Amino acid sequence: MSAKIISGKDIAAQIREELKKDVEKLQNSHGIVPGLVTILVGRNPASISYVTAKQKTAHELGFNSIQDDQPDDLSEADLLNLIDKYNKDPKIHGILVQLPLPKHIDEKKVLNAINPDKDVDGFHPVNVGRLMIGGDDVKFLPCTPAGIQELIVRSGFDTSGAEVVVVGRSNIVGKPIANMLLQKGKGANSTVTVVHTGTKNLEDHCKRADILIVAAGVPNLVKPEWIKPGSCVIDVGVNRVGEKKSEKTGRMIAILKGDVDFDAAKEIAGAITPVPGGVGPMTITMLMKNTVKSAIMHAGM
Ligand code: NAP
Repeated sequence: MSAKIISGKDIAAQIREELKKDVEKLQNSHGIVPGLVTILVGRNPASISYVTAKQKTAHELGFNSIQDDQPDDLSEADLLNLIDKYNKDPKIHGILVQLPLPKHIDEKKVLNAINPDKDVDGFHPVNVGRLMIGGDDVKFLPCTPAGIQELIVRSGFDTSGAEVVVVGRSNIVGKPIANMLLQKGKGANSTVTVVHTGTKNLEDHCKRADILIVAAGVPNLVKPEWIKPGSCVIDVGVNRVGEKKSEKTGRMIAILKGDVDFDAAKEIAGAITPVPGGVGPMTITMLMKNTVKSAIMHAGM
């Protein structure tokens, strides 16, 4: 039987509707509008499109959203001053600095300068520490892992006691999602294994997974025979494998593939995310969720 397709597009739309209601409530009861600033240094085309998509979503949700475009030659000191200004601005609840930054700027220094209580990307070491500790300490979960967790939970998979295998140990996906799912609590409480290029018998680990999360950036790394029948497969990978003509616009667009051989895997898994349309749409939505959470926290609610 063919797997249930977990649509990140649909689940993201559902969460955005919930957020719209939260935004209305915040405004009506406390006169507060969630404020998000996205800082873009330079004109990297991919970064422009990411920032534009974030701003568009923030506008649609009724946020006070500011796109702060800065020139390529902005000094590190000026960028730090800008962050300091937004750290102190009571109307701003979320600060996002779009990466990568130009080479003359130390990315770590910049991310560390963001007030952890406005760090809606969840990359500040304080928030990484809070995630490790878990429970009430957690303020902001990093957006892609938070989106993955929502996809699993909202598609009805029980994480408690499940064997989870995470392929990849990056700081933005693999390590945080592994830490989130091993916490004691709802939507977690799993037995987690993290595998990487140093792992022996990758296949054997994957075969045990009730929930398999793949974030390696290698097209078709996971073969259908590595998938446990009936399992939940979350494919985080986004790999450009070629170009095709868009039927809508006639322009050339990238052909995207995940890390899992989707067509074959969907005949074995119980549920699977497509690429595109799986994890991707969740990432921006979770950024919005973090910004609303920040506004609620700053309102003392
Ligand atoms: P990354 O920093 O390059 O990390 C990749 C991880 O996968 C590393 O830990 C690496 O192991 C492991 N790996 C690579 N090849 C492997 C192999 N053959 N066998 C076992 N492990 C292997 O990548 P990332 O930033 O986590 O992103 C991973 C993928 O997710 C990319 O395709 C990226 O585009 C995508 N992504 C999507 C979203 C979204 O919103 N949809 C967000 C973030 C990332 P080592 O540590 O041993 O090198």
